[in-house]
Order: sequence, then C-alpha cells, then structure tokens
Amino acid sequence: MAVPQRRTSKTRKRMRRTHFKISVPGMVECPQCHEMKLAHRICKNCGSYKGRTVVEAE
Ligand SMILES: [Zn+2]
Repeated sequence: MAVPQRRTSKTRKRMRRTHFKISVPGMVECPQCHEMKLAHRICKNCGSYKGRTVVEAE
C-alpha cells in the first residue's frame, strides 16, 4: 500500500484548505445588478429574470 513519505505539515495542510471555500450551491451573479442570486430564480434585489423586470423592486 502506498504510504506518504512525509507527514503533511500544519502549514501545508492549512495552505491546501484555503481553497475549501464556503459556497452556497446554485448562487450566481445577477447580470442586472451584480448581486448574488439563486440560479433559475428571479433576482431578489432588482426583480429581474432573463434580462427583463418581472417583479418591481420595492
Ligand atoms: Zn439583480
């Protein structure tokens, strides 16, 4: 069985884990207002979907 030749240091382990980012799945940037929104849903901020306003923003 393959065994690591060296123990991964705390620093190396932490450096690798900097790439493990918290990401909410299905979040995309709104093309209208550049806010984060849920994919395939209208934008909460500007009420647009597919380039047109569906719901007027409050
Ligand atoms: Zn928007």
